[in-house]
Amino acid sequence: MAKKRILSGMRPTGRLHLGHWFGALENWVRLQDEYECFFMVADWHALTSEWQDTSQIKESSYQIVIDWLSVGLDPTRSTIFVQSQVKQHAELALILGMFTPVPWLERCPTYKEQIDQMTTKDLSNFGFLGYPVLQAADITLYDAVAVPIGEDQIPHLEMTREMVRRINNLYGQVLVEPQPILSPTPRLLGFDGRKMSKSYGNAIYLSDPPEEVARKAKLMVTDPARVRREDPGNPDVCSVFSYQKQVSPDKLEWIDKGCRTATIGCMDDKKLLIERLNALLDPIRAKRRELEANPRLVERVLEEGNARARDAAEATMRRVRKALKIFED
Ligand code: SF4
Repeated sequence: MAKKRILSGMRPTGRLHLGHWFGALENWVRLQDEYECFFMVADWHALTSEWQDTSQIKESSYQIVIDWLSVGLDPTRSTIFVQSQVKQHAELALILGMFTPVPWLERCPTYKEQIDQMTTKDLSNFGFLGYPVLQAADITLYDAVAVPIGEDQIPHLEMTREMVRRINNLYGQVLVEPQPILSPTPRLLGFDGRKMSKSYGNAIYLSDPPEEVARKAKLMVTDPARVRREDPGNPDVCSVFSYQKQVSPDKLEWIDKGCRTATIGCMDDKKLLIERLNALLDPIRAKRRELEANPRLVERVLEEGNARARDAAEATMRRVRKALKIFED
């Protein structure tokens, strides 16, 4: 039986870090067993915030694909492609825009939130307001039955579903209504205790060498009440512990007890964390070195992925054009 199809994407705005691994990629690698996966480099989405300086988008797109292949996304099973190389995304977004009342977009919680938060970027453009429309096109273009998302993206997906229902109510079964595949997104802070972000420079990247991982882990903020080695601490308020939950599930009891009774020091805990993080990242770094030495391989993955994505997208667009009685050549 053919596998059901899903789509996921990331904006190419820089190298990928541990937040991406634990928040999405680890799950994506697993989903390949169960679904036919389309993984999209969302470079047009990156334009919504990076329109004043696009110089990094192409290089970041290439780097993101190297990161994806390094962690185990498998181009023989999954379609890895770049959004801007499949022009049907723009065509379907334009059509879906006709079915989207502007107040839906203005009310979208992430729209308001990001306008308030991203004070360093000018987001007052039409493209940023219409971001969920392009996202709806990305998903429905591939007849994706589901999308792996975090809780915060539910309103966006709901909007996609409403657009699909509008079209289907008027024109028959034209597009597939996608369901969410909710994945728990662990809250990992940057090593300085602030939100993990490229702009704060506080993330541990998948491509960081071992010494850099060790340097950043040593800087990690711990329980501020644990000033001296003999002070008992509270792992629940410690960033190191939130990382340990991901990489050392077998040692949590030892850490929790040792911290609360001051029988282990923060450096003991960090030493273990550094070992575990490097054990996780070693094979990823090795694969990256292999890919960097063979750029043609990455280019080929994208050529083949873009071609496969175009075929699937064109099949959907033929159906949409026919249903809406739009000219075809
Ligand atoms: S011992 Fe570990 S969990 Fe406790 S405060 Fe130090 S780093 Fe955090």
